Amino acid sequence: MHVLVLGGTAEARRLAELLTARPDTRVTTSLAGRVAAPRTPPGELRVGGFGGAHGLAEWLRTRAVDTVVDATHPFADTISRNAAHAAALTGVPLLVLRRPGWRPQPGDDWREAGSLPEAAALLPSLGRRVFLTTGRMGLAAFAGAPDDLWFLVRSVDPPEPPHPPRMEVLLDRGPFTLDGERHLLARHRIDVLVTKDSGGAATAPKLTAAREAGLAVVVVRRPPVPDGVPVVPDPEAALARITG
Ligand code: NAP
Repeated sequence: MHVLVLGGTAEARRLAELLTARPDTRVTTSLAGRVAAPRTPPGELRVGGFGGAHGLAEWLRTRAVDTVVDATHPFADTISRNAAHAAALTGVPLLVLRRPGWRPQPGDDWREAGSLPEAAALLPSLGRRVFLTTGRMGLAAFAGAPDDLWFLVRSVDPPEPPHPPRMEVLLDRGPFTLDGERHLLARHRIDVLVTKDSGGAATAPKLTAAREAGLAVVVVRRPPVPDGVPVVPDPEAALARITG
């Protein structure tokens, strides 16, 4: 059985580990190629776009793929829609592996935003020193921020313009610790955190640290999963579904 895992997440790597442990299964992980030095999964690896839904459909046909697992990040919306389209074109079964979103806890001060521009528009009423953890790709949404807003931007690779006019960049990648996040918020005198609802444990400590410090948090809502595609919450459930 040949399984294509659309990757770029810890869950995709874990699924590749589970699948490669099975003697009857060939697994190929696909990465977009955004990160300069990605953590690589076991099994076969391909890097770069497919050329849209039709390119992906062609890839599925020519490589005799039996199942596709969309284990991309919850905010990687285009590839998820392309995967659903390619599955419909080819009849290859598609499964979405999506870690559950975060839920507010007692003591949280969360504001929901439908998009990064909506998050940017909320900031002036919430504080002056912003910890921005939404990744380097969407920084243009904050490029028009007023001059009295200062941003601490954390990303895996260095961001490129357009970006907020006043910012400091912190290059780092999760998992992050609660102690580390507490110190970061205190050292930079942060008063508002901006995050996508990525879910998962690796980057959740910032939410606990923000709650403890009484900070406002702007949470960007996820795009929906394409209609009619089955969704599982973790790699073990994906394995059971594929092999069951
Ligand atoms: P996106 O906007 O949904 O996709 C843009 C294009 O990138 C797609 O149309 C596709 O190109 C290509 N692509 C994306 N994921 C791919 C994959 N796994 N394999 C091959 N091509 C892929 O994606 P994105 O938000 O830029 O995310 C890119 C990658 O980074 C994803 O693999 C995702 O899991 C990971 N990631 C994203 C985020 C985030 O916040 N968005 C955070 C952490 C990790 P073609 O149309 O040419 O096929």
